[in-house]
Amino acid sequence: MSDCIFCKIVQKKIPSRIVYEDEISLAFEDINPQAPVHTLIIPKKHISTLLDIPEDDSGLIGHLFRIANKLAKDKGIAERGYRLVANCNPESGQTVYHIHIHLLGGRRMHWPPG
Ligand code: AMP
Ligand code: ZN
Repeated sequence: MSDCIFCKIVQKKIPSRIVYEDEISLAFEDINPQAPVHTLIIPKKHISTLLDIPEDDSGLIGHLFRIANKLAKDKGIAERGYRLVANCNPESGQTVYHIHIHLLGGRRMHWPPG
């Protein structure tokens, strides 16, 4: 997707602070962090919303969660606790239409979320 900001990050056309990369996924620091740890985990291929995940991509989605958990451990927040968030469509607050998991931690989280 030529006009997708996260595709541009995947293609290294715009800078980001990448913390993990493999053939199918990328993780980078959120530009507007909402917690001491705020990292985004994305598939390299463009998928606009959670509703658009193809049936045969469950392995890819599982992979993204495994990377999120690995980063939580690497960043030292796994035992304290962390939150994974994925927004879908406007009322959730989704602003970038390339699916991503937010890894949030390093402070006490509130519930219900805002
Ligand atoms: P969401 O609101 O769930 O769609 O989350 C999109 C996230 O992407 C927000 O937390 C933004 O701060 C973050 N974001 C937007 N542009 C960039 C960028 N160029 N680099 C890193 N994070 C970004
Ligand atoms: Zn994209």
